[in-house]
Amino acid sequence: MKIAIASCLQESNNFSPVATTYDDFTPVFGPAVFERHRGKLTEMGGFLDILDTTEATIEPICAAWAITANRLRRADFARLLNEFAQHLKAANPDALLLAMHGAQTAQGEDDVEGRFLEIARQILGPDKPIILTLDLHANITQRMVALANAIVGYHTYPHIDMFETGQKAARLLLRTLAGEVRPAMAYHKLPLIIQAENSQTYRGPMHELITAAQALEASGQAEAISIFPVQPWLDIAEMGCAVVAVTNNKPKSAQAQADKLAKQLWKRKAEFETKLIPVPEAIAAALALPVGPTVLAESSDSTGSGSPGDSTGVLKHLLKAQLTGPAAIFLVDPATVAAAFEAGVGATISRRIGGCFDKKNSKPVPVEAYVKLLSDGSWTARARGYNTGITTSLGRAAVLVSGHVHILVAERSAMTVDPELFRSQGIEPIYCQIVVVKSPNGFRAAYEPIAKAIFVVDTPGVSSANLRQMPFKRVPRPLYPLDTEGF
Ligand SMILES: [Zn+2]
Repeated sequence: MKIAIASCLQESNNFSPVATTYDDFTPVFGPAVFERHRGKLTEMGGFLDILDTTEATIEPICAAWAITANRLRRADFARLLNEFAQHLKAANPDALLLAMHGAQTAQGEDDVEGRFLEIARQILGPDKPIILTLDLHANITQRMVALANAIVGYHTYPHIDMFETGQKAARLLLRTLAGEVRPAMAYHKLPLIIQAENSQTYRGPMHELITAAQALEASGQAEAISIFPVQPWLDIAEMGCAVVAVTNNKPKSAQAQADKLAKQLWKRKAEFETKLIPVPEAIAAALALPVGPTVLAESSDSTGSGSPGDSTGVLKHLLKAQLTGPAAIFLVDPATVAAAFEAGVGATISRRIGGCFDKKNSKPVPVEAYVKLLSDGSWTARARGYNTGITTSLGRAAVLVSGHVHILVAERSAMTVDPELFRSQGIEPIYCQIVVVKSPNGFRAAYEPIAKAIFVVDTPGVSSANLRQMPFKRVPRPLYPLDTEGF
């Protein structure tokens, strides 16, 4: 028995000014896949953890992950898809475990996952099982449901169960291959998008919905139930939250379970509305506390939601604040990194920084800063979440210090949910008065245990929670909360 494993993950944001390229995925093929993921807390790590205990031959196809941005360039998409197809064809497996995000777009393709499944199905034929794992923020399409035998989504947000999701999918695949399970899948799509800030799965309405889904799994009524509150910055025709249910050969029951949970999500939609705090108010509150860190979440520039990470919306206030301890902020600004490298450690540079990609929402701010550290920007995620245990690169990076403000400037974007991002470049968040993260909610897993206070702040950006103000053109209407009637 030959089981193929493959991953290709990215979350798209169709309002981002930055396109995605092939290199952003840092793809590897064949045995290098094992090296990247075996023993790591990723979906692929979860696949391997289960498959390694069986007699099956594991066929490593590809492993690819890219930071969020706008659509993958057309030629780069064709190349990635073609490489996936060639390796899958050569492996000629009996089954496929595929890890993707579910909200990936490319130029000319609104449903990258659906296209990957189409290719996989052509190669494997109609009868060999394909199981797809997806991020909780996936946008489920008719094509995905038609072509995969089962879809298994994360149950956590902040996302900390990638490994367990991979294990679950691998177990389901093995039981399917053994003839114990005949997956029957159904889904229910809603004309709904919701803000990320209030959709934690450990409290509030999403917690209750996930708990209900898990009870159905535990009782054996479902093999897998996934609730997908889609990431809301896709401007595509087949857009909206969904619930997917997989049962053992009971299609009607799968549909009934998906319908029931979707109705509950729809009923509670208003509870996800988010109140954002003006930056000066949040900084004043942080300064009034005897001890930090206070975490300011700049979700409108979330590098995990498709924003470029170049906003000066918080930075401009931070530079003027009467801080009494260090503050830390991450900023993507390649030209400033180049200037810091040219000046060297110990030099002081004077320039305008930030606002270099999203010129509509941010203006560069003037800063005089000491070049504290220069680095190759490689870092290894440690907190449970994205790429845990895997080393990725910021491109070159510099730590600039202006007054109390420590600015980690990088050539490339990165997830900011793990304090290790700062730690790896010599900044310890625990000792900061203020830490700025560019994330709506994912940061809570690692930062809530150390934060004395948390404020989600209001700045403009392409991943803003102010969904009614985003320039949607192609989403189906009516769509809540853009519309409040006509459903
Ligand atoms: Zn997500």
